[in-house]
Amino acid sequence: MRQTLDAGGVPLDHISYDPWGAPQGSAIAPFGFTGELQDTASGSIHLRARWYTPGMGIFASRDSFKGFPEQPYTQHQYVYALSNPVLYTDPTGKYAQLEQKVQQPPIISRSEWGAMNPTQAMRPFCVAGACGFAPYGEGFYDPVTNPSGYACYTDLLPGRSLDDILDTIVIHHEGNDQTYNVREVQRKHMLGNGWTDIGYHYAIDPKGVIYEGRDIGVRGSHVEGQNTGKIGVLLLGDFQPGPEVSIGGIVIWRDTDDPRPTQQQVTMATALIRWLDVKYGIESVGAHRDYVATECPGDNAMPFIPSFNAAAQQNT
Ligand SMILES: [Zn+2]
Repeated sequence: MRQTLDAGGVPLDHISYDPWGAPQGSAIAPFGFTGELQDTASGSIHLRARWYTPGMGIFASRDSFKGFPEQPYTQHQYVYALSNPVLYTDPTGKYAQLEQKVQQPPIISRSEWGAMNPTQAMRPFCVAGACGFAPYGEGFYDPVTNPSGYACYTDLLPGRSLDDILDTIVIHHEGNDQTYNVREVQRKHMLGNGWTDIGYHYAIDPKGVIYEGRDIGVRGSHVEGQNTGKIGVLLLGDFQPGPEVSIGGIVIWRDTDDPRPTQQQVTMATALIRWLDVKYGIESVGAHRDYVATECPGDNAMPFIPSFNAAAQQNT
């Protein structure tokens, strides 16, 4: 527990701890470090089998559990969380457990990468001598005139929460453009396709850097006609072999493609999926080609889809 609120949700007090659980410059709260009962007079933490003394980083009495023979360090009778409180906790006072908390991976926000704001794309026209600008492309949502437009879920599905609406993650690749650059993708979607914003909710570059795309509270534009409830994740790169040109059976030109998503891309995509699953309760992760006829996300990315899907099954 880090903060206490009054009945109106206004913060009353903020508490922080060092990794061992010693409060930093604030009074001891009865339930604080790792959510356990703490004696406000002595500062000792009650971990059921024993009392733990956070200032010293050790237990006040011997461990009733003798430890695992194959892991000698677990046989120490007084240490807390294998002396590694960043990775482990000890809720029973007997043995350490891996901290299960899933954290948000680092995400470069739209303002940090200099995203353009969503806008209604316009196209010049002249009909029978009358000239002007008309909206084209995606356009803003209107239940009558533009039901498939750029829509905040609060307008599209009023009264429903995001964790109720968002149930699927769809994986994409960039394809032949291979700019590896989220700005270029946004430019293409808005200025080329006439969309209101970048179509994907997240983009991940080959170094594993995650970029925020379209606001998560807005329906994406990445699975034609089936966008509602689907989070779009773009892996920057081209994972589809070819195309190629051959003369007389000899390949004379072949498009450059990426042999697979990089290790960093796969690692950070997995971290992103796990976090989105904890946040919204994701039911499945699929490839763009699972929903419509397309090469996306490319043959070389398809082998990773089952493990991405498995990452979304760990918490739900
Ligand atoms: Zn796609």
